[in-house]
Order: sequence, then C-alpha cells, then structure tokens
Amino acid sequence: MRVSEGRVTVTVPEQPDAGKGADVFFNPVQELNRDITVAALRAYRERTPRVSTYLDATAASGIRGVRAAANDWETTLCDIDDDATALCEQNLERNDLAASVRRSDANVLMHSEAFDVVDVDPFGTPIPFADAAIQGTKHLLCVTATDTAPLCGAHFESGVRSYGAVPRNTEFHAEMGMRVLLSAMVRTAARYDIAARPILSHATKHYARTYLEFDHGAKVANDCIDELGYVHHCQHCLWRDHDFGLIADAPEACPVCEKHLQTAGPIWLGRTCDPAFADAVSEQVTEEMGTADEATELLATLKAEIDTPTHYDQHRLCKRWGRGAEAMDEFIEKLHDAGYEASRTHYGGTTFKTDADVVEIREATAE
Ligand code: SAM
Repeated sequence: MRVSEGRVTVTVPEQPDAGKGADVFFNPVQELNRDITVAALRAYRERTPRVSTYLDATAASGIRGVRAAANDWETTLCDIDDDATALCEQNLERNDLAASVRRSDANVLMHSEAFDVVDVDPFGTPIPFADAAIQGTKHLLCVTATDTAPLCGAHFESGVRSYGAVPRNTEFHAEMGMRVLLSAMVRTAARYDIAARPILSHATKHYARTYLEFDHGAKVANDCIDELGYVHHCQHCLWRDHDFGLIADAPEACPVCEKHLQTAGPIWLGRTCDPAFADAVSEQVTEEMGTADEATELLATLKAEIDTPTHYDQHRLCKRWGRGAEAMDEFIEKLHDAGYEASRTHYGGTTFKTDADVVEIREATAE
C-alpha cells in the first residue's frame, strides 16, 4: 500500500495483524512520532548549524530516513533485514532522493561509524542498542521505546532486567516509564563520560520517545548522574515524594496516612524537556504533516508543563476523596490562587503537575 507522510510517498506491505507477520514493518499510528521527528530535526539544525548526518538505525520501510533525506539531511538507513533494505532503496528512488542504505546489524554500524544524529526506533526496548548508539552519536540521540509494561512496572522483573532500575506500577505509569528509560540512557552514556540530557520527551499512545543531547566530559556526566534518584509513593492516599542520589532514603511510612510506601528508582528526576526547544520544534511543524494539529497541541503542552516529578490525575484524586471532578482549568486556577505552581501535562486530559503535595492539593481545590 502507498502511504504519504510529510513531503514523501512510500510503499509499505499490507500489515496483516498490527505489523506482526508483515514482510517489513510499518505502523501508521507512529505518524505523530515521525512528524515530530522531522520538526525536531529541522529545529535541531537551527540550534546546532554544523550538524548534517542522520542515521535511521532501524529503518524498516525507511519512511523516517526518507523523510529526513527529503529535509536535506545526509541520511543513512540501516536495517538487519534484506526485505527492509530493499524497500528502503525503492522508497528513496520513488521520491527521487539519495541516501546510503546499509543491510547491517545497527550495533555493528554504530560501533564503527558516528553520525551527528542517530535515531533508534526498534521493536520494544531500545536497550540492546543503547551502548552502540551512544558510541555512534555525535550530538543528538533520538530513542523510541514501545515496551511500556516493563518500563512502568506492570511487568516488574522484565523492567528490572532491561533497565537496571526498579519500576513501580503507579497511577503516573507513563511518566514512570519515561523516567526509567531516561535513567537507563543517562547511566549508559555516563559510562563513556557523556552527559545525555533530554531536550524533548513525550509518552504517547503506548510508546515513549526522547531526544537526548550529548555533551562530553566526566564532569558533565557526573552532573547528569546527580539528577537520578528515587520516588516514594503511597498507593493508598497517592502521596509521593522524591529524593536525589543513588542511595534511596525512603521515609518509613507515608507521612499522611502512615501506610506502606513503594520506592522506584533510580529514575531520572531532571527535566524531560527544554521548553525553548519544544517551542522551536513547534515552529517547524508544517501544514503538510498529517498530524500537524495534534503535534502542535502536544508541543504546546510540553512547553508549558512544569518541571517536577511526578504528575497527578484529578479524576483519581477526586474519586479517592469522594468528591466530584471539575473542569481542569478551574482546578488549576485554584492551585494558582493558593500560590502553587501548576500546569496540565501531556500524559492525559485530566493530569496535572504542581509543587503542592497531595494534602495541599486537596485543601487548595476544596469548594
Ligand atoms: N523506524 C521504523 C518506522 O518509523 O516505521 C520502524 C522500525 S521497526 C519498529 C524495527 C526495525 O528494526 C525492523 O525493520 C527490524 O528488521 C529492525 N531491526 C531489528 N534488529 C535490528 C538490528 N540489530 N539492526 C538493525 N535493524 C534491526
């Protein structure tokens, strides 16, 4: 079937069972991810004018790399699968674009060659590619993870094995997943004296996506490690707190209801997004993108999202308090009126972040 995205049209095989069993994988639901990738590539080139090379490390049909090539990136498309690389060649030709196509294990390629920007968009976890991707990236590493159950603690052992951290299945599960992923990437980069800082991250439709900017040196890598830590969370009253450092310092019990606390970590507690970059990416979302409206809305929310772990869900809190929910704008206004920072978040229509704790939120938003 033919698929048009942005400035390109590619051919992809029919996907019988959500991509399973297809000769070459293609997921139409990831169009938003790809539109934001193209906008982020444009914005990043303005931010760092010397960058020119882009590796689509797990290319499948090549749609991501073909779109990068159509935006004048000196592109390499890599896939381990013969059918995939043959399709990448056809899709480049169809769009009259030139790029290098490699049939290779991406880990081998990334260990032997470095690119300004590397994109790892694999099946499930990106961790098997993490070491090589960090070696093969000069400036910006873009990573997708679709294994949300291990990441957010729903598949606990698998999460611990893949990410070397303790994930917990909380009501802020998408953010837990994002911060576990970031923790693993930051720790992997630090092993090579590289600081990998997220400048844009979003959790959307069963995947987490992040863009990590690199800075080299032991000191900056140490600074990144300092932004790892633990979240302590009460499943009963939904109180939570976090502390920085690699040694967990959990309170003995929840200070509000005295019930048992769950601790997750080490997770990334630093900022997940640079608002200025989110704004610059938003300016690069253009009309020909199929998800332009959704992308613009998402980027505006990311830009305004306050920078504190972790978010709450108004509906869950109100249910717990035996109260009716109210319009989000009014709810957030009440927090502002009480002197707290508060914003909506991109994790869901009823989610918000604030510097108030759960007791303060309840009091500030009471009728
Ligand atoms: N990025 C694509 C897109 O936006 O449509 C989707 C990529 S698909 C989820 C993952 C691809 O990774 C598959 O085509 C698979 O053949 C490829 N792959 C799996 N292991 C690989 C490896 N070690 N090196 C390179 N490619 C690999």
